[in-house]
Amino acid sequence: MDSLNPTRRIAVYPGSFDPVTLGHMDIIRRAAKQFDKLIVAVLNNTSKNPLFTVEERKALLASATADLPNVEIDSFRDLLVRYMRTRNANVIIRGIRSVSDFEYELQMASTNHQLDSSIETIFMMTNPKYSYLSSSIVKEIAMFHGDVGELVPPEVEAALRAKFAAAPRADKRS
Ligand code: ADP
Repeated sequence: MDSLNPTRRIAVYPGSFDPVTLGHMDIIRRAAKQFDKLIVAVLNNTSKNPLFTVEERKALLASATADLPNVEIDSFRDLLVRYMRTRNANVIIRGIRSVSDFEYELQMASTNHQLDSSIETIFMMTNPKYSYLSSSIVKEIAMFHGDVGELVPPEVEAALRAKFAAAPRADKRS
């Protein structure tokens, strides 16, 4: 158990992951190298209207990270800093794509530090080839039956195809 070894460095990468993209995967792979354990924590946010359920998002993340032994997939609905305490983690990982990401992330990081001064947020810059990539863009392309093969892990591509299989093709609509 984590609590038996307080010297282990445990980080949490929180987010919606609706669904996980190759941008997220790039951050996960890089962060996993820096910590003994990386917990990818899906936010169970009832105020958003997600495409995938929390269980579906966790299953997709688990499959996409199966080759990374120190990555664990979890979900939380509590305040992030409180969840982190239950997991003995004190580092939050967030990805930054743009200056506009930075403004929001700075606010979040400052708030979390205010709530618990032992918690640090570490920002990782996106790989430039994914700087435009977001879950929203992926969903939009998939909804219109566009090709997302270069943007998401294969299991996510299949799950998106299944979700939107019943939707009429955009180019066939009147
Ligand atoms: P949230 O709703 O918390 O922003 P997301 O799933 O959209 O959840 O993103 C989780 C984290 O991953 C955030 O820190 C976000 O900035 C980062 N992220 C999202 N897409 C990318 C990307 N293409 N490259 C790097 N980081 C990303």
